[in-house]
Amino acid sequence: MTIEFSSRLRDIPVYPVADGYALPETVAQMASNESPDRPIPEVVAAIEGTLSGLNRYPDPASSQLRARLADRYGIPATRIAIGNGSCDILLAAGQALLEPGAEVVFARPSFSVYPHLAAATGATPITVPLDEQDRLDLEAMAAEVTAATRLVLVCNPNNPTSTAVPLRDIEALLAAVPRHVCVIVDEAYCEFNLLQDPGDSVDLLERHVNLVLLRTFSKVHGLCGLRVGFGLCGSEDFPRATDQVRQPFFCNAAAQAAAVEALRHEDEVERRVERAVAGRLTIGEGLGRLGLPVAESQANFVWAGLGEDVHEGDVVRGLAERGVLVRAGRSLGREGFVRVTCGTPAENDRFLAALRELV
Ligand code: PMP
Repeated sequence: MTIEFSSRLRDIPVYPVADGYALPETVAQMASNESPDRPIPEVVAAIEGTLSGLNRYPDPASSQLRARLADRYGIPATRIAIGNGSCDILLAAGQALLEPGAEVVFARPSFSVYPHLAAATGATPITVPLDEQDRLDLEAMAAEVTAATRLVLVCNPNNPTSTAVPLRDIEALLAAVPRHVCVIVDEAYCEFNLLQDPGDSVDLLERHVNLVLLRTFSKVHGLCGLRVGFGLCGSEDFPRATDQVRQPFFCNAAAQAAAVEALRHEDEVERRVERAVAGRLTIGEGLGRLGLPVAESQANFVWAGLGEDVHEGDVVRGLAERGVLVRAGRSLGREGFVRVTCGTPAENDRFLAALRELV
């Protein structure tokens, strides 16, 4: 006799975490879209400043962080949701919005957490294939909205394919979706997207109460180890509802302090974006020279096909043997592809040199 769990558990997919957490630092970690840059000294100092106060619970309202984000984006703090990483906000959105009989629309392949929202709540996932350039097909997604739809998830730029859609397409989707249907535009990689500025989509919040722009400190700010993300919302309803379904102290004190400090260093963000853009060009050109099809990246990673004669598992294993970790397309929803995160210039070269030996 074992413990009897909820029948929903059978449907919840296991998140495809990358290998390599116990490996030496010499391994090039290019599998999880992390930043290759360590936190800057000012952020480390802010984290250290919280250590002696850890006998107290963190501020449950993340007041300082929300105030800073409110200043930065020009929206009231009451319309900002905070999370233990942006995944936390996604899963809370699932709990707050979905239930059996409800539908959630998202692309395929897109961020691997989205299927969890449906599986964990008993809602029905409606998945929509990407277009020929591996971009979201927002028209097709809008066409899937029915009376049962509660949530539409738009990943821009899209993980794992790295492509972005223009803001006007998102505006068209918002115009087509009824106002009672929540639209989350997941902008985890928005700083790397050269089609628009991270501020551009914020203007849409004034016209669309059902819109949430999901952001994170995990990517360009390089703080994924601390877990802090946020949602900029068209109304106060979303932060209120997602707080209601979570434990009270979901964002720890060190994460709040680090995020507040990170916001003071826009120059560092710009430097990191420049390096990632240079990295994706180097990697893209290198893959192109090997004859591999590469999606047009607007993110800090590159998505490439491996061709018919090459076995994806052999390539990923061969790269790992050469000290380079990348993500196999199969675990991300499309076999025969790899997703490689832009690393340091030396890591990017190492990846290309290793791949040359394998394809
Ligand atoms: N959205 C997308 C598209 C992502 O790729 C990721 C991280 N892989 C996240 C959200 C979640 O990031 P975090 O929970 O670290 O903020």
